[in-house]
Amino acid sequence: MIEKMYEQMGISREVYDFSQRIWDSLKGRFEKIDQVSEYNQMKVIGAMQKNKVSEACLLGTTGYGYNDLGRDTLEAVYADIFHTQDALVRPQITCGTHALALALMSNLRPGDELLSPVGKPYDTLEEVIGIRESKGSLKEYGITYRQVDLLPGGGFDYEGIRKAVGERTKLVTIQRSKGYQTRPTLSVSAIGELIRFLKAIKPDLICMVDNCYGEFTEITEPSDVGADLVVGSLIKNPGGGLAPIGGYLAGKKECIENASFRLTSPGLGKEVGASLQVLNAFYQGLFLAPSVTANALKSAVFAANIYERLGFPVVPCAGEERHDIIQAVTFGNPQGVIAFCQGIQQAAAVDGHVTPEPWDMPGYDSPVIMAAGAFVSGSSIELSADGPIKPPYAVYFQGALTWQHGKFGIMKTLQKLVEKGIVSADFTSFS
Ligand SMILES: *Cc1c(COP(=O)(O)O)cnc(C)c1O
Repeated sequence: MIEKMYEQMGISREVYDFSQRIWDSLKGRFEKIDQVSEYNQMKVIGAMQKNKVSEACLLGTTGYGYNDLGRDTLEAVYADIFHTQDALVRPQITCGTHALALALMSNLRPGDELLSPVGKPYDTLEEVIGIRESKGSLKEYGITYRQVDLLPGGGFDYEGIRKAVGERTKLVTIQRSKGYQTRPTLSVSAIGELIRFLKAIKPDLICMVDNCYGEFTEITEPSDVGADLVVGSLIKNPGGGLAPIGGYLAGKKECIENASFRLTSPGLGKEVGASLQVLNAFYQGLFLAPSVTANALKSAVFAANIYERLGFPVVPCAGEERHDIIQAVTFGNPQGVIAFCQGIQQAAAVDGHVTPEPWDMPGYDSPVIMAAGAFVSGSSIELSADGPIKPPYAVYFQGALTWQHGKFGIMKTLQKLVEKGIVSADFTSFS
């Protein structure tokens, strides 16, 4: 029956059989992913129960949003999940970049220095920091920036970091996910090691972690290993696919307070900020997040195994442990990147009939192709992929709200690659 259904959905027998064989080999991996998700589900439910989340919490406020029970309770729930003193979880935080900019701009003062000991930060932060000239950057406010790159093997350059921490170093930003780079993603334990080293040099450093794409991939979070502040986007992992907007910060009371005064206004802080109609989605999305993250992880592992078996370089490798939901596959030619993205798009429930093409996006130095048929526009916890059309011609794939959708999406990409003659339909040699 299922083969027939896949056939109706445009999947050939060869692609189906090959995918089944790969999936069969992954049952053990998937069980481990499910164990992490089970642990995190308990953590989320436990935090909701402890804070007495009630039906009234799901209703929003308007206007100033004074005494917003649902908002305040949700922030307490986040603080409990991340084991921090406080949290700021708001629809007024427009995206991940905004959440990170807010954390930086509110906790740094003119004359302070920001340090990244893990190399270049995420693209959009370059303008926040002022690495690329930009209006309103930290640089414009007299906040300087230093960076220590990772060692060629991906390890921390401890000597370089020791030299870079100075009198003015106030805040350290650590990006957990590789984002769209080829360096390894940092495990929570590696982040813990780095933070211990930094605090031994200068105990009052504020250690902030860009937690985007990492939430719920492990049973601990960076705030469990010494991070003073963790920051992320609600249209990625912790929004569970339901949050229609938003960002979060969780951390030390003082850091969160600083951020709240910057988000709203000095004197007002956390007391204002109406939650409108989003609380239901924030709560339910958070409730689903451990499970949705597991689905995205399974899809990434499946993709890595399919494409590694077919001989394409993949990062992380098929057997590697995961600390985020992003999967890179290198095709070595533009046709492969385009076919992959078109396959992802064809698997979408929304905009599945649309054919993505590469285009000259502002801010990029080459054409970029993006596949996203999402219920929440731009949401990258939903099945999505994108790739710059330039060497080495790699595609970055992430998300899937359900494992079944992720599996179908990857099968579609393979089908496309076979149809275009980029991959030979003779899979038997790989079995
Ligand atoms: C997505 C992402 C961001 C920025 O989030 P947006 O919501 O796209 O602004 C920052 N850092 C990392 C590592 C990310 O993955």
